[in-house]
Amino acid sequence: MRTFVYDQPASRVIFGLGSLDRLPEEVKRLGASRAIVLSTPEQRTDAEEAAKRLGDMSAGIYPQAVMHVPIETARAARAAAKDLGADCYVAIGGGSTIGLGKAIALETGMPIVAVPTTFAGSEMTPIYGLTEGGVKKTGRDRRVLPRTVLYDPKLTLTLPGKIAGPSGMNAIAHCVEGLYAQDANPIMALLAAEGIRALSRSLPVIVQEPRNLEARSDAMYGAWLAGTVLGNVGMALHHKLCHTLGGTFNLPHAETHTVVLPHAVEFNRHAAVDAIWAAAAALGVNDAAQGLYDLASRLGAPLALKDIGMSADGLDRAARLATENPYYNPRPIEYGGIRQLLENAFWGKRPG
Ligand code: NAD
Repeated sequence: MRTFVYDQPASRVIFGLGSLDRLPEEVKRLGASRAIVLSTPEQRTDAEEAAKRLGDMSAGIYPQAVMHVPIETARAARAAAKDLGADCYVAIGGGSTIGLGKAIALETGMPIVAVPTTFAGSEMTPIYGLTEGGVKKTGRDRRVLPRTVLYDPKLTLTLPGKIAGPSGMNAIAHCVEGLYAQDANPIMALLAAEGIRALSRSLPVIVQEPRNLEARSDAMYGAWLAGTVLGNVGMALHHKLCHTLGGTFNLPHAETHTVVLPHAVEFNRHAAVDAIWAAAAALGVNDAAQGLYDLASRLGAPLALKDIGMSADGLDRAARLATENPYYNPRPIEYGGIRQLLENAFWGKRPG
């Protein structure tokens, strides 16, 4: 008999082409009347478009989000939101912008409306990150979980294939580790498998036909499921390694996930047989580690750490950092195995 705890903090989700049109009524529905719109500098026009739709419910835009939410950026955004008298935060963008919304909401408890434009999944999680003195710390708090999420696949049209592919692989990584999580449960396993199916069938289409809205919609659906899995069950070795490589070696987030995932799955192959079999079935292949490597290759995504800014002389340190504090993983973590995993990922070796 299985035993598990299912305790899902829920968001309201509006999904489909043109969902952004619903922004004003969704802000009103939360009882808010002055929303500040957050974005990165690159997505300023998206923020302006959202503010235009909000009309007199817009308190202004704040297009200053950057990767990993530096504490200085969070403080400046909190001050701007306060000065503008904002009672709601509209975050339009990827994980970096939604992360900035979370950093403000963590202090005020006011609601976030997230409008994701990548497949990273942050909009479905109560996880926040803040970087201080070069060190990124993460935490969980239900106050930062966006109250409402508007998924409008049209907003991903400007995401080129070379960013969309790794972003989708990042989402697949949430699903794969969700399948073998310490606190895995059958509901999240269903979402994880469906997320892998939706993303693995749609991402190659997006890369080949960037204007294909049906495929973009499918990928966004998969990203929603993946984000839900990430927010509900604990992750393991793969996420730990990516956090270390991103934080200490400044490697790009989604690309690091893309390169490491096949090797993390290979490492866990014999310790999480059922979960990894489920991942392979969802990918439609016999071998999950090889299937993930081949999918990344079809997407034209990076396959080797050496190609995304890692230097060979950092591998020993990365292996040490990833093994110095104990954490859950289906297969026990030890230096030699992790060092070999990183070596394989460095050269971009196909698993198996
Ligand atoms: P991102 O938000 O950093 O965006 C990368 C770049 O792409 C930015 O310049 C952004 O403006 C641009 N961009 C985003 N959408 C676009 C679009 N549709 N068209 C054109 N340009 C677009 O990238 P990300 O991968 O979404 O997020 C990565 C960050 O999110 C990392 O810091 C990661 O740690 C965090 N994250 C957090 C969680 C969580 O649960 N807290 C989950 C996943 C990721």
